[in-house]
Amino acid sequence: MADLLSQLFINGEWSDAASGVTFGVDNPATGETLTKVADAGREDMQRAIDAAAAAQPAWGTSVALERSQIMRRAATVMRADIDHLARVMTLEQGKPLDQSRGELEYGIGFIEWFAEEARRIYGMTIPATSREKRITVIKQPLGVTAAITPWNFPSLQILRKLGAALAAGCTMVVKPAELTPLSALEIGRCFHEAGLPKGVLAIVPGLDPVPLAAAIMEDARVRAVSFTGSTEVGKLLMRGAAETMKRVSLELGGHAPLIVFADADLDHAVDQTVAVKMRNMGQTCVSANRIFVQAPVVETFTQRLVERLQALKVGNGVDPGVGVGPLVEDAALDKVERHVADARAKGATVVLGGERVTVADAPGRNFYAPTVLTGVNDTMDLTREETFGPVAAILPFDDEADVIARANDTVYGLAAYFFTRDVNRVVRMTEALDYGTVGVNDASISAVQAPFGGVKESGIGREGGPLGVDEYVDVKYVSLGGVGG
Ligand code: NAD
Repeated sequence: MADLLSQLFINGEWSDAASGVTFGVDNPATGETLTKVADAGREDMQRAIDAAAAAQPAWGTSVALERSQIMRRAATVMRADIDHLARVMTLEQGKPLDQSRGELEYGIGFIEWFAEEARRIYGMTIPATSREKRITVIKQPLGVTAAITPWNFPSLQILRKLGAALAAGCTMVVKPAELTPLSALEIGRCFHEAGLPKGVLAIVPGLDPVPLAAAIMEDARVRAVSFTGSTEVGKLLMRGAAETMKRVSLELGGHAPLIVFADADLDHAVDQTVAVKMRNMGQTCVSANRIFVQAPVVETFTQRLVERLQALKVGNGVDPGVGVGPLVEDAALDKVERHVADARAKGATVVLGGERVTVADAPGRNFYAPTVLTGVNDTMDLTREETFGPVAAILPFDDEADVIARANDTVYGLAAYFFTRDVNRVVRMTEALDYGTVGVNDASISAVQAPFGGVKESGIGREGGPLGVDEYVDVKYVSLGGVGG
């Protein structure tokens, strides 16, 4: 397709990979290859880091208002081009067009919010213990930073990191997921059009992440790595960061419990469950993996959930009215099938879906029916591992203590949700859940101004809000002596 970008964006220019090699980007709905993209290797990433290091002194000492204005211009360019950006995302990733547009709106919101925050990176003045001294604290940009991002939110995951880094005065090299490089390259284009100085941002896609990550991790000039992806890779990067003592910000896997108490507003709980379970076909780190429903309302809740999921249209994300697109690749379906088969074998009942579906006019094989399983218990694989698919697993529970213990019984700690009308329970549950983000009568937790992140093996650091900027600054304490007075 003619209007798809296919070259590396390094030092404000578009180039082929040094090796001249390219790799194909496929449309998961049709199986067709959309385009071939330059396949960066270590040498290309090195060039991007060199350019970032050269750009860092000027960018890091620029006036906050200048950075803010460039960021706002980039947001304006993206908003003006949102239909094209959404189409590119749906073509390479599969999600329905309105969800692609929603992701872009949210991602651009980070750029706008951080453009404002750039002007509020304040230091401190602290009373000294001697009349001779003055103590101040200033915040300075870390320097060159790197982002390694996943395919499930191809634009958002970059924009959230980039917004905070640019606001703080850091340059950034981005290694996008190999399945979704096109949306990433579009971000490079938009910032370039907005007048971002050359070298401040690089987009360096490649099929093999290992040499690209090695170039980043081994270079002492890169002061921070912000990674979103699997816990397994996050651990590798954290180990690698020790060598040059880089800061790491890790947004890793999740296994969110969604808990519905018998006193909840059931219709609202069902609405929110559908939204959080089916967004991006269930391929999100905050997806409700375990839906705990209190015994007296299990039947009613399940029935209403099934009615809602049955009504969703499965199809090619570019077609109007589609609520559920294809999963991103064949391996993703294999995992969903394995989880459903394992649950069945251990006694779960499939009350809706439970199989692949074929879609007329979309020859890809990646479609899976919205699925509801009942009678799920804690021995099943899907209660331990992320399913990353449109499968709603319902687990009955008896009381609050029981459900808190089961909800916390996981290595993950990213997001949790619960629904109740009891205000005292709201306080107890909020405090007892071992998660970085808790939704109370709410499973739509996305907010640019809030600190998103996990505890336990879901990661380290926070993205969004004022804490998001802190990931990209060094704190310098200045002790001034001999002042007198
Ligand atoms: P992944 O870890 O396989 O890949 C993420 C990125 O890391 C990609 O760019 C990939 O190329 C790169 N990568 C893969 N192997 C690498 C290696 N050995 N060294 C360096 N980089 C490597 O994850 P994925 O399958 O793309 O994404 C799904 C995972 O991401 C899920 O676990 C999901 O929960 C998690 N996720 C977390 C959040 C969050 O905010 N916490 C958000 C979205 C997704």
